[in-house]
Amino acid sequence: MSKIIVAGAGHGGVVAAIKLAKAGHEVIIFEKSRQESLGLPQSDVVEKEAFVYADIPIPDECKTVRNEITFIPLESDVSRFTLPATEEESILINRKVLITYLLSLAKEAGAEIFYGTEIIKPIILGNRVCGVRTREQEFYCDLVIDACGVYSPLRMNLPEYMCVNREIKKYDIVHTYRAYFNKLPNVPDPETTYNIYVRDNGSVGFSWLVTEEDRIDALIGRFHELDDKETLEILRGLHEENAHMGTELVEGGSFMPIPVCQPLAVLVADGYAAIGDSAFMTYSIKGSGIAYCIRAGVMLADCVINDTQGFYDAEHLWEYEKRFFKEIGFSACRIAIVKNLLHYMTAEQLNDLFKQNIVTTDEVAKVMEEKFDAILTAKGFATVKDKVRLVRDNPLLKEMFTNIAVWIGRFTVAESSFPNKYDAEDVQKWNERYNTFFDSIRAE
Ligand SMILES: Cc1cc2nc3c(=O)[nH]c(=O)nc-3n(C[C@H](O)[C@H](O)[C@H](O)COP(=O)(O)OP(=O)(O)OC[C@H]3O[C@@H](n4cnc5c(N)ncnc54)[C@H](O)[C@@H]3O)c2cc1C
Repeated sequence: MSKIIVAGAGHGGVVAAIKLAKAGHEVIIFEKSRQESLGLPQSDVVEKEAFVYADIPIPDECKTVRNEITFIPLESDVSRFTLPATEEESILINRKVLITYLLSLAKEAGAEIFYGTEIIKPIILGNRVCGVRTREQEFYCDLVIDACGVYSPLRMNLPEYMCVNREIKKYDIVHTYRAYFNKLPNVPDPETTYNIYVRDNGSVGFSWLVTEEDRIDALIGRFHELDDKETLEILRGLHEENAHMGTELVEGGSFMPIPVCQPLAVLVADGYAAIGDSAFMTYSIKGSGIAYCIRAGVMLADCVINDTQGFYDAEHLWEYEKRFFKEIGFSACRIAIVKNLLHYMTAEQLNDLFKQNIVTTDEVAKVMEEKFDAILTAKGFATVKDKVRLVRDNPLLKEMFTNIAVWIGRFTVAESSFPNKYDAEDVQKWNERYNTFFDSIRAE
């Protein structure tokens, strides 16, 4: 049996820890937060199916939801539109409850958990990751699972030749502020309770305001870092438009990054595998990552369990990477390509898309339900060509839609160079092609 370190109590790492400890491996989780402060002070939506995939019972504390989202465009002359309730069932779960629950399952399965232990960097011997250095000491192991999140000090300190790390660039991250406010008594709820405001003068940004039974959930997301002054101004605006929103902070109030880009090109190296936000595994339009993490945790654990000789080198871990890209990664890339369009637009131009009915409610619903990539792969070019026809009188939008068609075509070519079996040279070529492609479509 092998010694496996899970660095950070990220959701994917903890799911892998549950499976690996159950299979008899010695699993140690190092988490920098103290146990009582672990998890975000918020409730989030997670696809139910992911729990079924992982064979993990859904925690009792959560509520099943089918959200009806209403978009509130920038200009008042464009009418608001409400998407039909999502087909898929999701659960709304408190993040502290979720991570505590997953960690309790890991502990039950035999994993050891050390809280308040911050990892500083990987230990590398020869060309293999052999352990981690915490603030206090060094720990050696057979495999390190990197579940430290967006700014993982493990990923960021890997040598370049491993091809795993890449620089975080503009538009890769949405900077968010999330807080819950009191709901004023005797003021009626708005007609729609899950409202997304497309806002920002300049590049596209959004805020959401979700009216719960006894409080208001406010989230602000921008492609630049938010400061207190801007956040306050945006909150004031939301408050003015929503008479039922109080000004008393009930919970949360923190700034957090969400990766909204394509996953890493290479997730593995000898003795190392990245998972979750540390590998940028989110649905890039919404920034939802928990379901991908849970699934990837299963894929990684299966791959490790199948490596019965305990090599855990890049060659054997490539099976995890391959399965991830096949089941999630390639479609996540297509979503990231479509999302890229937003970076070339101002909020006014986005408004025009709705005003002129170029983007339909049905299409937005598919995007929110994570089914948009199906349109792109099946009838892809026909759909995009139809859009180009609709926007022919608007040169800027026409150029954007033409770009989408070209980008998806170019990505399909890049995708074909994904190595089916691990070969260092082929992986390097894949890494270069993949990153060069995404860099080439990036807005300045
Ligand atoms: C405001 C907001 C809203 C979101 N809404 C949703 C949603 O509705 N649905 C959804 O699916 N996703 C949502 N997400 C995204 C989701 O939070 C992430 O994609 C998901 O948590 C996956 O990240 P992770 O578990 O890999 O990493 P994280 O959640 O970032 O966990 C990483 C863990 O590693 C620990 N850590 C970090 N550095 C170190 C270190 N040096 N040493 C030791 N430990 C370390 C951290 O303390 C943390 O516990 C949201 C995110 C934000 C910020």
